[in-house]
Amino acid sequence: MGIEAALPTDSILTTQFHRISNWARRSSVWPMPFATACCGIELMATACSRFDLARFGAEVMRFSPRQSDLLIVAGRVSIKTLPVLQRIYMQMAEPKWVISMGACASTGGVFDTYAVVQGVDQFIPVDVYVPGCPPRPEMLIEGIMAIQKIIDNDNLPRDPEGKRLPLQLAVQPNFQPTPQPVDVSIGAS
Ligand code: SF4
Repeated sequence: MGIEAALPTDSILTTQFHRISNWARRSSVWPMPFATACCGIELMATACSRFDLARFGAEVMRFSPRQSDLLIVAGRVSIKTLPVLQRIYMQMAEPKWVISMGACASTGGVFDTYAVVQGVDQFIPVDVYVPGCPPRPEMLIEGIMAIQKIIDNDNLPRDPEGKRLPLQLAVQPNFQPTPQPVDVSIGAS
């Protein structure tokens, strides 16, 4: 039973090239991890077997910006580190997307100091914000799926000069905590 079973006999399958390229692109997002702090551990967990980012075709973390199309900023960014982040973003080829993972990357988090960037979106365009401190791997997967949906819909906003505008979407938590597998009782004997 394959797709041929659903098609009428003697039919011709036609499509548009951009649909195929979008499908290929969203099925093979290559992230560039810019992990500077604890959020990076959750990013690593997302790629491990329990959460298995490979299900979404996005597990191939590249450490070369020229081979990546999704920059994931995970953790606080200091003013001193900022030029490195900007250079990495500029070296990535278009089309490219950016996820700001966690409170520190998006707002500076609890580090309200002169040395920490109070939101990376002040310096690079951010497409999806993943909230939390740290966000759970499911939240990051939600963010990646949001990017995939946008690629699929070919829905990239551009300014009148053709420059791509940041999408600035915020992921909302939509998962329920699972119940404990066993009852936990403390103190009773
Ligand atoms: S948001 Fe929380 S977990 Fe993530 S880098 Fe900041 S302090 Fe660490």
